[in-house]
Amino acid sequence: GPRVVIIGAGIVGTSLADELTGRGWTDVTVLDRGPLPATGGSSSHAPGLVFATNPSETLSRFAQYTVDKFRGLAETSDRLCFNPVGGLEVATTEARMTDLHRKAGWARAWGVSARIVDAAECARLHPLLDPATVLGGLHTPTDGLADALACVDVQRQRAEAAGARFVGDTRVRAIVTTGDRVTGVETADGIHPADVVVSCAGFWGVEIGAMVDLRVPLVAMGHQYVETTTVDPLRGSVDPRVGKAAATLPILRHQDADLYYRQHGDRIGIGYYGHHAMPVDMDRLYRDTREQPMPSMLPFTPADFAPAWTESTRVLPSLASASVADGFNGIFSFTPDGGPVLGPHPGLDGFWVAEAVWVTQSAGVARTMAHWMIDGSPDLCVAGCDIARFSARETAPDHVAAMSARAFDEVYDIIHPREQRSIQRDLTVSPLHERHRARAAVFVTSHDWERPAWFEANTALPQIDTASAASAHRDDFSTRHWSPIVLAEAAATRAGVGLFDMTSLMRLQVSGTDAVSFLAPILTRDPDRAVGTVIYALMLDPSGGVLSDVTVARTAAESFQIGINGPLDLARLRALARVARRDGADVEVREITAETACLGVWGPAALALVDPLSEAALGPDDLGFYRTVRTRIADVSVLAMRVSYVGEFGWELYVAADDAVTLADELTSAGASLGAVWAGRGALDTLRIEKGYRSWGTDMTAMHSPDEAGLAFAVAKNHDFVGRAAMSQRPVRRRLHTLVADDPGTLLLGREPVTGPDGTVGHVTSAAFSPIVHRTIAYAWGAPELRVGDQVHVDHLATTATFTVSPTTTVDPENARLKG
Ligand code: FAD
Repeated sequence: GPRVVIIGAGIVGTSLADELTGRGWTDVTVLDRGPLPATGGSSSHAPGLVFATNPSETLSRFAQYTVDKFRGLAETSDRLCFNPVGGLEVATTEARMTDLHRKAGWARAWGVSARIVDAAECARLHPLLDPATVLGGLHTPTDGLADALACVDVQRQRAEAAGARFVGDTRVRAIVTTGDRVTGVETADGIHPADVVVSCAGFWGVEIGAMVDLRVPLVAMGHQYVETTTVDPLRGSVDPRVGKAAATLPILRHQDADLYYRQHGDRIGIGYYGHHAMPVDMDRLYRDTREQPMPSMLPFTPADFAPAWTESTRVLPSLASASVADGFNGIFSFTPDGGPVLGPHPGLDGFWVAEAVWVTQSAGVARTMAHWMIDGSPDLCVAGCDIARFSARETAPDHVAAMSARAFDEVYDIIHPREQRSIQRDLTVSPLHERHRARAAVFVTSHDWERPAWFEANTALPQIDTASAASAHRDDFSTRHWSPIVLAEAAATRAGVGLFDMTSLMRLQVSGTDAVSFLAPILTRDPDRAVGTVIYALMLDPSGGVLSDVTVARTAAESFQIGINGPLDLARLRALARVARRDGADVEVREITAETACLGVWGPAALALVDPLSEAALGPDDLGFYRTVRTRIADVSVLAMRVSYVGEFGWELYVAADDAVTLADELTSAGASLGAVWAGRGALDTLRIEKGYRSWGTDMTAMHSPDEAGLAFAVAKNHDFVGRAAMSQRPVRRRLHTLVADDPGTLLLGREPVTGPDGTVGHVTSAAFSPIVHRTIAYAWGAPELRVGDQVHVDHLATTATFTVSPTTTVDPENARLKG
């Protein structure tokens, strides 16, 4: 194997050394600036609560592996690495109780055993709890306490036995590179040569990233943790000598008050997120803590903790027999979206990061990193964890600081899946933004972009009465951040013509004499077609999983315009182009999202609207499906692309950003008599779900093969590409099915568990209420054996609904509308 240097011997670096050596990469050196084994990083004092339930399947699976692994470690050690005391989350409000039902759904969907319990059962599970203060809870028997230092110790010994070296008191002060490859790290003792360097520096990750021109989007944040004096009922209950995991009480979360609890022998540990965010000034920390053994522990600020103590003695009355013995403001990482930052440096081969990782996910992250580094692709979907998932604007320090502080504030809040942030808005807007505002658009963000979700000005649409009636049965939680205008806009598009601002969908240009040979092996269809041809194709990873789906338009002999799914695609294509150029190829990848705008014009009246205004004829026989032509509309140069994400005849019209308003205004005024309506993302989503169209990242990911995702049609038989061989050998383990609700009153939000007739469990990806079928249509992963007509059960909050498996496409399966 290659020579690997890992920076950081905390729980993440050590777990990674163990996973790499266990898979045969034995030339591993782990360097830490602090002493071993308690380096002074976050892992040295983590209380180690592990809750495996998470809205993200990947984060839940990381945690499940961590639990399994750490439980296994206990057998090889005299210390308890993991104590499976179980986890209990309690609700003191109805809203929290509803949310616990949602969480129980995630647990079921991701394979964690959990159940809703009443107040009496909460108090039976955790006898210090006053049942009169809670409404109920969620009990997860497999959760528990990890002793991070014990886990570090045992894994380090195992890695060392397999060949790894651990070196303490050795700070990495620079990364050594040759061209765009990493070749080593520099410390006070000199240069440690390396083919692969992994930064597992925890909240110091930003500084390491700066050494290689990589913005690591995390913020070091203070978080209060205290231990009480002896609590009367716990006196003598547990022998405190068994180590940090000494407890019999389940770990407890009281999220309505931003609090969590664990037992330390006869004391209770209390963690508190209710105080204001405490970002750490890292320059100052370096100065102040140079000689300190625990640079990650800041002095306790009792005033911030006062409300936590009052509330704690209310729900756990026996705490009144004790007091706060000890407290500190511990430091660990927060990120803009709360996820970890993992993966390769897009601009420097051989350099990786694994940071902002909790103890809870540590071993799972390490295993996935090892797969990724050794096999070339991770074993779980890392789209929500990849360091390249942020746009350039999103990694700007001001944004990272503001969003990470918000992530801290909201860590225990109930977040509705459609809820939008109130800060960091209007960072990047479409050239049509003011026009959208004039139509009273309600905006949603995607990365740094604002997009209209629907337009309040459309309350007067004739379709609104039917839409309001159809959504009348909705439950309070499901109707939040939503409007029946969404349905009216969708219905108006199918009746006349919808105008959609598609500008925020990222696009790029690939050009050069080697553009074709660059693209061919990374697409599931051959892009080498006549100028003016568009293809829908997939990009696969080496194991045959779907990395992305893209539309590729050949706009000139040596130039392609590609619609991509986001920053991950951009980073991947740029990295591939960098390597191709290193090998002498002539190819450039350039993002053109901001300098261009895109308008979707779709519906039965689209032709009547656009054709009279266009220089080039745009009729169905003039510009075929999946063809593109340059024309002039309203005196503006337009690239018209005959594609549709809503299943109606029409085009994506691409213009220079400066021409967007002219084009939009012309279409609006010409469209008035044709029933043209501006429509938002909500309508777009409804329409595409009626058609069976997938959304990458929500419906399918790299964990799914094209066949499983229902995308085999996008794979050419006679074309060779990365992932082809692996793809054909992959068994179909599940399929993405279309479900239609039996009851018109049923609504879904996504990620609900689905139980098939044979008892197997899958989960919902996307869902939308259709104004045409008057029912919720959902996509769900389920057993490949499910057949059209089968009934399945979907748990939604506290209810269970029946759905029927349906053909992939609900509306216009013959594509008559698309053909025009
Ligand atoms: P660390 O343990 O900080 O390791 C990073 C290492 O990198 C350090 O040892 C550091 O010395 C080293 N390093 C940095 N720079 C350099 C350099 N230039 N050269 C060499 N070495 C370097 N998580 C949970 O899952 N459950 C909990 O209940 C929980 N509670 C917490 C409570 C508190 C009060 C705090 C502070 C954190 C808590 N966490 C919890 C979070 C958890 O502790 C961390 O996320 C986790 O320990 C991070 O592990 P790590 O290995 O990435 O970082």
